[in-house]
Amino acid sequence: MTYQPSDTRYSSMSYRRTGRSGLLLPAISLGLWYNFGGIDPLENARAMLRRAFDLGITHFDLANNYGPPPGSAEETFGRVLAQDFKPYRDELIISSKAGYLMWPGPYGEWGSRKYLVASIDQSLRRMGLDYVDIFYSHRPDPHTPLEETLGALDFIVRSGRALYAGISTYSPEQTRQAAAILRQLGTPCLIHQPRYNMFDRWIEHELLQTLEEAGIGCIAFSPLDQGILTDKYLRAIPDDSRAAKLDNRFHWGDKVTPARVAQVQQLNAVAQARGQSLAQMAIAWVLRHPGMSSALIGASKVGQIEEAVAALDNLTFSADELTQIDAITA
Ligand code: NDP
Repeated sequence: MTYQPSDTRYSSMSYRRTGRSGLLLPAISLGLWYNFGGIDPLENARAMLRRAFDLGITHFDLANNYGPPPGSAEETFGRVLAQDFKPYRDELIISSKAGYLMWPGPYGEWGSRKYLVASIDQSLRRMGLDYVDIFYSHRPDPHTPLEETLGALDFIVRSGRALYAGISTYSPEQTRQAAAILRQLGTPCLIHQPRYNMFDRWIEHELLQTLEEAGIGCIAFSPLDQGILTDKYLRAIPDDSRAAKLDNRFHWGDKVTPARVAQVQQLNAVAQARGQSLAQMAIAWVLRHPGMSSALIGASKVGQIEEAVAALDNLTFSADELTQIDAITA
């Protein structure tokens, strides 16, 4: 059946300015790292994408290697785009990245111009797009001059393959250098994509300040610490959870330790006292920074996206609540 997006899709979402740019991002964006690959049911992926857009989530984040298998999340997104979202392309912000291993040999990862330009062309083909809105250097490359990596991003923008350039997981010093190089090239750095949640606060020490000074936006990935900052692991590790699914390959379940669960239990009590679920409080907590452009969530079910968007009903924290959260996560 032809997809008809909700008429009220722009009524509940708020949109935030990305640094000192003209681009507004939804306070909550959806990433396709997990659950949108070739191994995942297409109908669930499609239902999540549709529901997200109906709730005002206009930004979908991808990367060349998302799947599994690598590349298949972009293919899934391309199929849903062709089936459902094609008439709404101008209402969407679609991002992709390159930096991690994508194909064998010396040109299939890191930060060379050769890799980045080849990768964006592959991503565009997989998604059936003429351009992406944001293209990222997914990680800094210690062996390639920053000038080459960022020169490639500038070329990708100037050649019409992307509208904006971004960087991910760059340190504060690398960010300052990248911002200066891109400014000089005339393609300002739009956005930084770091990992940030209550258990991983590295950006608070210096990066947020650096971004504010440079006028660069910030989109925080894994605001739920991949699901640990929800109530799902409080009793056991459910079979359909990310921890259970990844345990064999990565011992991911080892992250769900009794000490961690005890902290989550206490955070859950703080959330309940605020009238929110823990997932909602974790998202609101990330968004409490004025310079935070968006919280970049993942989801395995439609209901998780609905729960996330409802976090926007309560984004304010009392000093006491923040102190409690600091004490629990210290
Ligand atoms: P989150 O921290 O939001 O974790 C998402 C996972 O948490 C879901 O897949 C689901 O897992 C679980 N979850 C979500 N909502 C709920 C809920 N209400 N109750 C219980 N469990 C819930 O983000 P991700 O780690 O998935 O990362 C988000 C995006 O960030 C990625 O898709 C990607 O776009 C980007 N990213 C970027 C990186 C980079 O290097 N730039 C690295 C990693 C991610 P479950 O399967 O258990 O249900």
